[in-house]
Amino acid sequence: MDDQTKPISLQTLAAQAFGDREPVTKALVPPIHMSATFLRDADNRYPAGHVYGRSDNPSVQQTEGLIALLEGAEEALLFGSGMAAATSVFLALDRPTHVIASKVMYWGFRSWLREIGRYGHRVSFVETSDLKAVRAATLPGETGLFWIETPSNPLWTVTDISAVAEIAHGCSAVLCVDSTVATPILTRPLSLGADIVMHSATKYLNGHCDVVAGSLATARGGQLWDRIRKTRGHLGSAISGFDAWLLMRGMRTLDVRVRKQSQTAATLAARLVGHPAVSMVLYPGLEHHAGHEVALRQMIGGFGGMLSIRVKRGDEAAIAVAASVAIWKRATSFGGIESLIEHRASIEGERSPCPGDLLRLSVGLEDADDLYLDLERALALAA
Ligand code: PLP
Repeated sequence: MDDQTKPISLQTLAAQAFGDREPVTKALVPPIHMSATFLRDADNRYPAGHVYGRSDNPSVQQTEGLIALLEGAEEALLFGSGMAAATSVFLALDRPTHVIASKVMYWGFRSWLREIGRYGHRVSFVETSDLKAVRAATLPGETGLFWIETPSNPLWTVTDISAVAEIAHGCSAVLCVDSTVATPILTRPLSLGADIVMHSATKYLNGHCDVVAGSLATARGGQLWDRIRKTRGHLGSAISGFDAWLLMRGMRTLDVRVRKQSQTAATLAARLVGHPAVSMVLYPGLEHHAGHEVALRQMIGGFGGMLSIRVKRGDEAAIAVAASVAIWKRATSFGGIESLIEHRASIEGERSPCPGDLLRLSVGLEDADDLYLDLERALALAA
């Protein structure tokens, strides 16, 4: 490929917020559209195609366009949270459906899925990194949806997206991938055969812990996608123009943030392996991690900014480590600029597959040595 034919890279398009320029002022930074309604012309038409703010906000559409571009999607939709995006897929199903879902996944969504029987659906929670288990759980003629999260919270289990896509399509089911942790910088699920990719945009896409949002992006439109869009309109679960603008602003630096966070996470994971106070380091980039081989194939240029450690002396010691750090912040969520530490079992409760001695680490943009030394000091106190 010579210089003339090389397409503009996603990195460039994201950095320049799509390259759109505000036509009147020529502003390089897009304006924030906050109008809840749009003027109808005297001929009774809406010349710009915008009618009402619940579904038609231009700032929201611009950010959706960037997500679609990054994911290689036909279209993307933004929602008021990751949960609003994920639940909308299930609320849009047109008949009672058997669903196969990852056993290890974001606990909030797992607890919603546990109650999904009241919508007529049935869920089998399966270790989706085990393809034999996925095949065995499939009910031909009944399984209509596969929902996988990879790498998945908080054990960072890796599921082979192309292999599950093959199983799903073999029974005419739809595959949705929660790719919040990988981001489109490290994995592009649609190019691996997934039908829909979902993000809690609250995390890396925004990257600054100042927006709660979610997104879905589809490989191709169709009836399910149309119903998802309608569901969003009926529930009124779109985001505001201001939140969409902040999200777009965050996505301009997505590439550098995710690469740097992955790099630091890999450095910390390697240094924590063998630490006398740590019994296990969970990170897909480590050779001993059960999902490493698939991650090597599926994740491009890094293994993400999330890792977990298990503290040798048990649950109370893990809580004590979290209590003793200074640079790491004790807070939930992840994917922001500040590094966060969390004792997940305290939040996930008894039915969680998360061990009580586990601490989840979201690596931010701080210096790797500062982060390691802070954690090492806290681990020494709890040893
Ligand atoms: N998916 C994953 C992997 C998450 O970690 C979360 C939230 O932590 C969600 C979905 C839900 O997203 P939100 O909090 O934006 O509703």
